Amino acid sequence: MITNNRLTPEQYAANFADIHPPFETHDAALVEANRCLFCYDAPCMKLCPTSINIPKFIKQISTENIKGSAHTIFSSNIFGAGCGKVCPVEKLCEGACVYNLMDEEAIPIAKLQRYSTEKAIEQKWKLFERKPSTGKKVAIVGAGPAGLSCAHVLSREGVDVTIYEKESKGGGLMTYGIAAYKVTPEFCEDEVDYILSIGGITVKYNRELGKNVSLKKLQKKYDAVYLSIGVGLTRNLGIKGEELEGVVDAIDFIYTLRDKGYSSVPVGDKVAVIGLGMTAIDAATQAKRLGASEVTIVYRRTHAEMPCTQHEMDIALLDGCKIKWLSAPKEVLGHHGKVAGLVCRVMELGTPDASGRRSPIETKEAFTLDVDMVIKATGQTPFIKLIEENELDNKSGKIVISNGCRTSVPSVFAGGDAVNGGKEVVDAVQAGKDGAKGILEFIGMWKAEVEPVYNNSVIALKE
Ligand code: SF4
Repeated sequence: MITNNRLTPEQYAANFADIHPPFETHDAALVEANRCLFCYDAPCMKLCPTSINIPKFIKQISTENIKGSAHTIFSSNIFGAGCGKVCPVEKLCEGACVYNLMDEEAIPIAKLQRYSTEKAIEQKWKLFERKPSTGKKVAIVGAGPAGLSCAHVLSREGVDVTIYEKESKGGGLMTYGIAAYKVTPEFCEDEVDYILSIGGITVKYNRELGKNVSLKKLQKKYDAVYLSIGVGLTRNLGIKGEELEGVVDAIDFIYTLRDKGYSSVPVGDKVAVIGLGMTAIDAATQAKRLGASEVTIVYRRTHAEMPCTQHEMDIALLDGCKIKWLSAPKEVLGHHGKVAGLVCRVMELGTPDASGRRSPIETKEAFTLDVDMVIKATGQTPFIKLIEENELDNKSGKIVISNGCRTSVPSVFAGGDAVNGGKEVVDAVQAGKDGAKGILEFIGMWKAEVEPVYNNSVIALKE
C-alpha cells in the first residue's frame, strides 16, 4: 500500500542525516591537508570541470589560511560547497589523485573543500567585491547552478543581473533534484543566499518562461539573455499500465520529498525503480529511507554498462536495495486502478550502440515483480515545445549553441542541462562561467583582467 508517514520523526532524522559528515576537528582536516603532495600539473585539478586549483586550496588549509582556501575554490566554482557534497568525486578529482596509483587512500578533496567553503557560508565571509554598476543589464532564465554561476561572474564585473525563476526557491537541481541525505534543503537555501550576497542580482521567483515571461520582451529590455532552463520530467516508458496510480516520476518524487518534507511523501511498501543513473539511485535509496520494506532497481544492461558510479551503487546496496540486471519493464499490472505488479522481460546484450555500450535485446523469458509502486528514472526530456516556440535551433530539444554560448536567436545565450541534456551540477557551474564570458564579450566588457576572476587556474599557473 502507498502511504506517507511510515516512520517516526527520529527515524526520518537518522535516515536523512548527512551521509558525508564533516571533519570533527581542525586537526583532522590539517592531517589530511598535509598528506597532499601538491603535485605539479596536478591530475586531480585536470579532472575538475571547473578547474578548481586543488593543490592551492589544500595548501592554504595546511597553512591555516582557510579564508584564502575558500576564495580559491569559489573563484572557480561558486557552488564549491554544494559540489563538495554532490560531485561524483570518485570519477573526478579524487579518482585522479596520485595516491590511487600507490594503492593508498586518495586525498579527501571533497571533504577538505567543504571544510573551508562551509565555514565561509556559515560565517558569511565576504570574499568578492562587486565592481560599480556599468549600467549593462542581463536577464537570466533559471536560478539553478548554471544561472547563478553566470550571474555571479557577471555581477562581479558590474553587470546588473535579473534572474527569472519558475520555482519559489533558487538552486535548481541542487535544491530540488538531489537526495536529501547528500545535501539538505536548508543548506541549499544558505548556499543560494551566500551567492546572492554579492549584490547586483535580483531574483524574480515564480516567473516562468512561456507562461509569465516572454523571451521577446526580455530581448528588448536587456543587453543579453542567458537561458539556463534545465530539462523537464522523466521520459515515458511507453508500456501498458503506465497511467496507473502508483507509477510516479523520480524527479517529481525527489522534488516533493525536498519541498514538502519526509513525512508527507507517500511511498509504497514494495517499490520498483526503473533506471540506474544518479536520479534512480537517489529515488531508490530515499524510498527505502522513507520506510519501503523492499526496493528493487530494474536495469536493462549489466554492471559494466551502468551509468551510476560504484560509490552510488554501494549506497543503494548498503540501504538494502536489490538490483535486477538485464531486465526491462514490459507492463505495469493493476488492481482497482492501482499498481499491483511489474512484468519485466529478461534481456541479453548485443552489439554496441551509438553510446558505445552494448545494446540490450529482449529474450523470451519474463518475470513479475510483486510491487505496489513504480518509480520511473529513465532520463529527463528537454523542454522541446518551449524551445521550438521560441525559435531556438535545437537537436532533439537540446538548444544548439555556437562559440561564446550564443544561440540562433540574437542576444540570447544558453548553457547547462538545456544544452547538454543533463550532466553533473559541476558541469552546469562551468557552463554558467562560459556563458558569462560569452556575454561579457558580446556586450564589450571582456578584458584580459577578467580572465583570472573567471578561471582561478590562470592565477595559479602565473604564480
Ligand atoms: Fe594532492 Fe592528490 Fe591532487 Fe596530488 S593529485 S595535488 S596528492 S590531491
